[in-house]
Amino acid sequence: LRSTLLMKAITKSSKLNNVRYQIRGQIAAAAKHLEDEGHKILKLNIGNPAPFGFEAPDDILKDVIHNLPNSQGYAESQGIYSARVAVMQYFQQQGIKDVSVDDIYLGNGVSELIVMAMQALLNNDDEVLIPAPDYPLWTAAVSLSGGTPVHYHCDDENFWYPNLKDMAAKITKKTKAIVLINPNNPTGAVYPEEVLQGIIALARQHDLIIFSDEIYDKILYDQAKHIPTASLAQDVLIITMGGLSKNYRVAGFRAGWLVISGPKIHAEDYIEGLSMLSSMRLCANVPCQHAIQTALGGYQSINELIEGDGRLLKQRNIAAKMINNIDGLSCHPAMGALYLFVKVNQEKFNIENDEQMILDLLKQEKILLVHGSAFNIKEQNYFRIVFLPHVDELIPAIDKIKNFFSTYKQV
Ligand code: PLP
Repeated sequence: LRSTLLMKAITKSSKLNNVRYQIRGQIAAAAKHLEDEGHKILKLNIGNPAPFGFEAPDDILKDVIHNLPNSQGYAESQGIYSARVAVMQYFQQQGIKDVSVDDIYLGNGVSELIVMAMQALLNNDDEVLIPAPDYPLWTAAVSLSGGTPVHYHCDDENFWYPNLKDMAAKITKKTKAIVLINPNNPTGAVYPEEVLQGIIALARQHDLIIFSDEIYDKILYDQAKHIPTASLAQDVLIITMGGLSKNYRVAGFRAGWLVISGPKIHAEDYIEGLSMLSSMRLCANVPCQHAIQTALGGYQSINELIEGDGRLLKQRNIAAKMINNIDGLSCHPAMGALYLFVKVNQEKFNIENDEQMILDLLKQEKILLVHGSAFNIKEQNYFRIVFLPHVDELIPAIDKIKNFFSTYKQV
């Protein structure tokens, strides 16, 4: 037997040097440690509806079960035909006509498609404009692909809308694409048409691709209206991502889509690259591709959760109200998605390290949140909370957050 002391250490690839994904990072590991010690931790760190009692529409489950026997073989790499037709029709219903079945790629969640789209596009040092704060997989995928993520500001003072001046100032000869997330994770912003038109104008002027992450497009509050970016321009290459994880509460199914619209003729080579990466992984999980057609057609049960006395709307209202009533904390009520991005007032609190703040809160109150800088902002005075728990769990949780900030690092 060789002594392990003499063995060469196995190290991770240098390709991972700049890759960060902290939503399931060190603090989540600390939470696991506390759980192993017997503590009960309330996990408000991940947008995963099922553990909070949100159930998928019955028809979706039935359809997957019904199709299970037919799902034993590999499918076409881009995805099963009926699901891609359903996605195409969904786009057509939203006024996006220049999409065919061949422009659609199904993946194991949007996550896989984000990584694939960046791997196929980027050469070393190519730049991609990404919102700050962002959903950090976008930044991680650009870094993993050898590109340079360049963050444009979204302004807290302006409902977290992208700052178009900042975006324009950050475009260089190396910029390949602009990413937008709408409705936004983590801020809950839903962008008005002027903002989207401004981004499209920049993409048009500088010949950039727009990646529009619209995975929360049906989770909207207070009459917010989601405008698909691709519905506003046919002369710009727009790659829209969406999926079943959030709108249909089946995050575990890993079912997502990528849709190419606009002047595809100019992007033939890139599209060939995407197709190659898609065939290299053979195909996405087949049984759950069958859920897509059933999900997109007909009655949309998500509306019961976000309208009237719908559960999600109620939870969002209570969470936003309670947070804004805590001395020194404030947030915009999310107009979409599942999160509040909360500002910790620096005139009241002396926070130098937001990760430490969230760790301290975890240890004291046994609640797991995500620190703001995990979303690629420089500021150290934000955190994200998921408002998925029932009110009888949500209210005591926010009371505990209030209790924590009543004594924590006061100025
Ligand atoms: N994009 C955004 C903005 C998200 O918030 C998430 C998940 O939280 C994803 C993509 C990944 O979704 P999927 O489950 O389809 O991989």
